[in-house]
Amino acid sequence: MENKEIQIGKYKIKVLREACISAASCVAVSPSVFKLDDKSKAVVIEEGTDEAENILMAAQSCPTKAIVVTDTETGKQVWPD
Ligand code: SF4
Repeated sequence: MENKEIQIGKYKIKVLREACISAASCVAVSPSVFKLDDKSKAVVIEEGTDEAENILMAAQSCPTKAIVVTDTETGKQVWPD
């Protein structure tokens, strides 16, 4: 499966599947945006919503920095920085 980028609020979010080790801390922090798929890799829930701050916190909680967050307002990657 390719690393699909999904926009939620002002952020575009992408999970680097090859880097995901299924720690699920992203799911614990933002269960409305992240879930594990049948391969125990994190995926972004397309219809998910959450505060931008919390989405960023979920990405920052990932031990392997497998979650890439881009701010669509600035066009800048905000995590990993
Ligand atoms: S926190 Fe990182 S390693 Fe853990 S499930 Fe989420 S993306 Fe994968």
